Amino acid sequence: MSELFGIYGASGCGRSLMPVARAQLKRLGNPAEIVFIDDSLVAETIINSHRAMNYAAFKAHPATQKKVLIAIANSQVREKIAIKLEQDAIERWTVQADNVVLMDEVEISPGAALSPFVTITSNIKIGKCFHANLYSYVEHDCVIGDYVTFAPGVKCNGNIHIQDHAYIGAGAVIKQGTPDKPLVIGKGAVVGMGAVVTKSVPPGVTVVGSPARILEKK
Ligand code: UDP
Repeated sequence: MSELFGIYGASGCGRSLMPVARAQLKRLGNPAEIVFIDDSLVAETIINSHRAMNYAAFKAHPATQKKVLIAIANSQVREKIAIKLEQDAIERWTVQADNVVLMDEVEISPGAALSPFVTITSNIKIGKCFHANLYSYVEHDCVIGDYVTFAPGVKCNGNIHIQDHAYIGAGAVIKQGTPDKPLVIGKGAVVGMGAVVTKSVPPGVTVVGSPARILEKK
């Protein structure tokens, strides 16, 4: 069996996650190669000392087992690529930094990116292709949907439900819910950086400020 790992996206997100992925393979004693995949590349090149190629070239590579981390912040793009990988029977790869803390009964669907200093405490369920950037945490009893993105330093307290495609900006704080009334961040909602979210956020809206309020579209 020959293995090949890919970091999909060679822009900011991908170049920040490549060292995390490299450390993970080292930790596991796995000598396999990790390449960048980026569709803007017409020919193979080298980026930060790794081979970089487009998806067609990655797919054509003869390795028998391929795993890919989609390292692109835009959640709609992550979903589009995840569907393509599934159609091509290429596995989603979860990458987590050496110092990530995962406590009890944490269930994370494959394809997550857990950056350095992330903490996920106990009894938490997380969907596909979750991105938890530097220093973010998820406290007990949270349920996080598919393609959710946390920028750095997100403070997600206990009993919060975050629906698919929500984006939580850097340093946002979300107030805890209760077991019978979780605080809900709706599908596709955006929480602005530094927001202090004290109550549930409806699907599709953007909230900013402290306490966070809906930003009306002009
Ligand atoms: N990209 C790609 N295939 C796609 C969409 C995007 O390879 O279908 C690449 C794109 O060429 C770019 C990267 O993904 O290099 C996204 O980079 P961007 O700077 O937009 O975002 P970030 O790295 O912050 O997620």
